[in-house]
Amino acid sequence: MSNISYNPYESAQAQFDRVAEQLNLNQGVRELLRQPMKEFHFTIPVKMDDGTTKVFKAFRVRHNDARGPAKGGIRFHPHETADTVRALSMWMTWKCAVVDIPLGGAKGGVICDPHNLSLAEQERLCRGYVRQLYGQLGPFSDVPAPDVMTNGQHMLWMLDEYETVSGARYPGMITGKPVGMGGSLGRTEATGYGVVYVLSELLKNEGIDIKATTASLQGFGNVGEYAARMYTELGGKILCVSCWNQKDKKSYTFKKEDGVNVPELASIKDSFGSIDVEKARSLGYDILPGDAWLSQDVDILIPAALENQITPAVFPQISKSVRVLCEAANGPTTPDCDPLIQERGLLLLPDFLCNAGGVTCSYFEQVQCNMNYFWSREEVLDKLKYTMTKAFAGVYDLAKSQNMYMRDAAYTIAINRVANTVKLRGWA
Ligand code: GLU
Repeated sequence: MSNISYNPYESAQAQFDRVAEQLNLNQGVRELLRQPMKEFHFTIPVKMDDGTTKVFKAFRVRHNDARGPAKGGIRFHPHETADTVRALSMWMTWKCAVVDIPLGGAKGGVICDPHNLSLAEQERLCRGYVRQLYGQLGPFSDVPAPDVMTNGQHMLWMLDEYETVSGARYPGMITGKPVGMGGSLGRTEATGYGVVYVLSELLKNEGIDIKATTASLQGFGNVGEYAARMYTELGGKILCVSCWNQKDKKSYTFKKEDGVNVPELASIKDSFGSIDVEKARSLGYDILPGDAWLSQDVDILIPAALENQITPAVFPQISKSVRVLCEAANGPTTPDCDPLIQERGLLLLPDFLCNAGGVTCSYFEQVQCNMNYFWSREEVLDKLKYTMTKAFAGVYDLAKSQNMYMRDAAYTIAINRVANTVKLRGWA
């Protein structure tokens, strides 16, 4: 492993600066967009089941809301940092802009490991988060959603706290809610399905038959699982899945030469995406070290876990057979890998385009909540596919016509949209 430690906020700023320079953005716009507009750092005291009080550190960062209410998930993670949340909030701005939905970018986080909290403690933590930020969150200002280790139940507790304090119903205040409680059909699958909608468009445009491809996946949370389900439904083969094991506090790669059985693996994972090693072994999976997913002879790599997973130190481990890097996670590749990706001629699906399906469906959820009229799953997924395909085409066509790197093309479209709004609003 490399001993360089990567700060995601510096990575997000480096990516932004590079394209801001190419676009010749004026100084004011550049200064405004390379940092968040607002930040909240706070503590949440939680009464634990044993009667003690534990104090959790939490963040909410609003990067930019020029194009609409700020939007972005809340993560629960023991290694959460302010800089990670800052980076993620920036990426949310570009994500909403690249798919052209009328939302800005935000992100939140709590330093905690929900594995170690009872459900009642998690509920008090969620309610505490909303109480501390009350007045800052709302359907027309800042709208949270699930992210790493948070789910629909957490969102519903947060909504309930918000509505209890405000004394009225605001279903559009938060997204990713359970279906039947203001949630949208298709939201759970949306990020993973969206990844495969853009992946299949890329393969089609490059003349590659998805049925003839194999992939290696890192991460088996909500995004990884549903990306794997859709990819295998379309005929692709997932050779292996790498994921974190909560019990052993390390990662393993679960491999089957004939391809993993996605529903089977899903049936032996816990609610945070950790696969049971013993059960997997008894089902005939080879159990390899966590980083083995990177060096498999496959066509497609799908990092769907956390940021900073692909660095120049591990890049040489990527098999020569790999043709596509499909960034389902936020920020999985460090910026110093960009020249290596280009040298190798890998086809890249940049993160904030690739995983924009989740927030796109969150937008649909808000629209449905505002109308108080809910669409069928089919209608939601049709609209999702349309939006993702259109966004992909915009980025791909720009990259092809200008001989531009895909990440730069996605940034060019997103930054231009946000910068234009900022200028028209008279902010810079
Ligand atoms: N957490 C998801 C993301 O990183 C979804 C955000 C949202 O729906 O607001 O894109």
